[in-house]
Amino acid sequence: MLRIFNHEILAPDNFVVTVELVPGRESTGRTTDTILGIAKDAFADGRVCAVTMTDNPGGNPSLSPDVLGYEIFKQGLDVIVHFTCRDMNRVGMESRALQLARMGMKNILALTGDYTGKGFGGQGTPVFDLDSTILCSMLKSLSSKLAASGDPDDFFTGCAVSPFKTTEAECYAQYNKLNRKIEAGASFVITQLGYDAKKFQELMTHHKKNKNYRIPVIGSAYLLSPRSARAMNSGKVPGAYLPDDLYKKVMREWETPKQGLKSAIERTAKLGVILKGLGYRGIHIGGVHKSFKTVGAILDRMDVIQDSWQDFLHEYNHSHEKTYYMFPKQKIEADSNSVKHDLKSKLFDLLPYTILNAAHDLFFNKKSFMAPLFKKIAGMIDQNGKSWLLKYLLEDPVKILLLSCRSCGDCGIQHVAFQCPESRCPKHTRNGPCGGSREGYCEVHPDKLCIWVRAYTRLQYGKATGNFIQKAVPPRNWALNKTSSWINFHLERDHQK
Ligand code: SF4
Repeated sequence: MLRIFNHEILAPDNFVVTVELVPGRESTGRTTDTILGIAKDAFADGRVCAVTMTDNPGGNPSLSPDVLGYEIFKQGLDVIVHFTCRDMNRVGMESRALQLARMGMKNILALTGDYTGKGFGGQGTPVFDLDSTILCSMLKSLSSKLAASGDPDDFFTGCAVSPFKTTEAECYAQYNKLNRKIEAGASFVITQLGYDAKKFQELMTHHKKNKNYRIPVIGSAYLLSPRSARAMNSGKVPGAYLPDDLYKKVMREWETPKQGLKSAIERTAKLGVILKGLGYRGIHIGGVHKSFKTVGAILDRMDVIQDSWQDFLHEYNHSHEKTYYMFPKQKIEADSNSVKHDLKSKLFDLLPYTILNAAHDLFFNKKSFMAPLFKKIAGMIDQNGKSWLLKYLLEDPVKILLLSCRSCGDCGIQHVAFQCPESRCPKHTRNGPCGGSREGYCEVHPDKLCIWVRAYTRLQYGKATGNFIQKAVPPRNWALNKTSSWINFHLERDHQK
């Protein structure tokens, strides 16, 4: 068994090919046999550097990527395991990481994960104890522990990013989170799905501007079938964006299946060479569920057309009509004119933000001259066993009214422009958005704005976008659940100590 992906992708002149495989809801049978067949042919072909194995995609149960991936890995083909935060708490996640290390499978794609789907008996519990940024940190820390115990072979952790966001707030939040994930230990990046070359270019420009040259980016290219096109167009694939015009075109092409497949291969190959031309360090091919022949055909075609990649750019301009682009105006900082604040948003969003911001500055600022006094008072209340009284009589009424507080005892509102990540974000993100928002709205509750879009709007209003997450926020400490976060803050028991 040989790990080659990490070496191949880090070699500056290489353009790697990875293929996404999707285990099904079965331990043996047709899907499993097909996956193993694709992997076997990929290995024999020699152009695919690694396959990636999805982790309960869509939040629905499927065969473990670890076990199926290991079968492939043992045959000699390198494997990147998708590792989401949805189904296990931090204890289970660390245990899984150790198991993967023991198996030698240390290429990990760290993902927050789609929201939870249906398993035995109905909808499952959404865990989201950690987020993808913290997962990157955890794997980095585990690598050091493994090294100390005599295993010099690190985890090679990657992360995902979606440049295909349509609003300024989403773009800013996505790229900000990407920087945090890289700081936390991500060593490569794979994009979400989209068909807008300008957005692919935007990501690379952002990457260079942030001096992230050393972190290679792989672009996703998906072989569109009528089924996948329908799901993406209707928003059923979180983070993927397929606009109406392209959707209609794909459906027309597939009226004759032979023509449909030919067009899908051509579209994927053209996107592949565009990615190469734009400086991506690889292509991640998805949507191949039947045979490796399709991947072979895409790669063959790429060889033929690679020098003409600029001729195809005009075919990849599929964006939402109001799509925000970060760089045509070279704009990465806040533009105070770009978000309109109506009376409703001023009253129900910006006013509470202003009040909470001021209150936080007054009562929860460790640099304030009042901080030692607050610490003393908190210590006295705590020593007298009266924290619960403060919590039930004052803290809970205020925070439940203003924030729908869930009383986690390790308050993270200040990281999300004074919104509660426990009550307002279904994935409890503390380090930036998941990839699932769509036109600014939440993947899970499409009638509500993503909290990170609201955070950006609030910070922009307060001319404080520089206060957007600047370093990774630790996960909440469950030992503090249902205790007073005010006391915990002043007595330095929470994540801000
Ligand atoms: S609020 Fe934003 S980050 Fe949270 S689940 Fe919804 S889209 Fe994802």
